[in-house]
Amino acid sequence: MKKERQQPCVHTDKQARHIETSSDDTMFMEEAIRLSAENIDLGGGPFGAVIVRNGQIIAGGTNRVVPNNDPTAHAEIMAIREACNKLKTFRLDECTIYTSCEPCPMCLSAIYWAGIKRICYGNTKDDAKSIDFDDSYIYDQIQLPNNKRDIKSQNIMRNEALKAFQKWSIKEDKTPY
Ligand SMILES: [Zn+2]
Repeated sequence: MKKERQQPCVHTDKQARHIETSSDDTMFMEEAIRLSAENIDLGGGPFGAVIVRNGQIIAGGTNRVVPNNDPTAHAEIMAIREACNKLKTFRLDECTIYTSCEPCPMCLSAIYWAGIKRICYGNTKDDAKSIDFDDSYIYDQIQLPNNKRDIKSQNIMRNEALKAFQKWSIKEDKTPY
């Protein structure tokens, strides 16, 4: 049987149109995958990511949750931090992220916050689930109303909390983001 081609870069929804990969995409994804495999020998999880701008790798990241005792140290987050640090910006508008696995909800959110325009991923979230990295659980939780989620959340002291928002809204020299 013919070996399946590399996964095309697609958006996560099922209706997404098929987007062909370029040879650059293949090269950058190979690097993300290389980082993911190498990271296992360095004490991290099997995840790697690179951020690319204008055909150049700006930053790379790997999963360092266990060695750093940091539950947020996912490959994509590490790569975003390094890219922003290098470029001295909190926006990565011109960038593509290549990640060895479909981003979890935290990383997907960080990608949106960073303004990254395109995501290419290798393994799917179901592939991750099959080796006990169950991101799909969080995707499922997000879709539930607050009161149906496993983590209970309560709205308390709203009026007191609003004071900081009011202070922010009248601040004149702020940097909007
Ligand atoms: Zn993540």
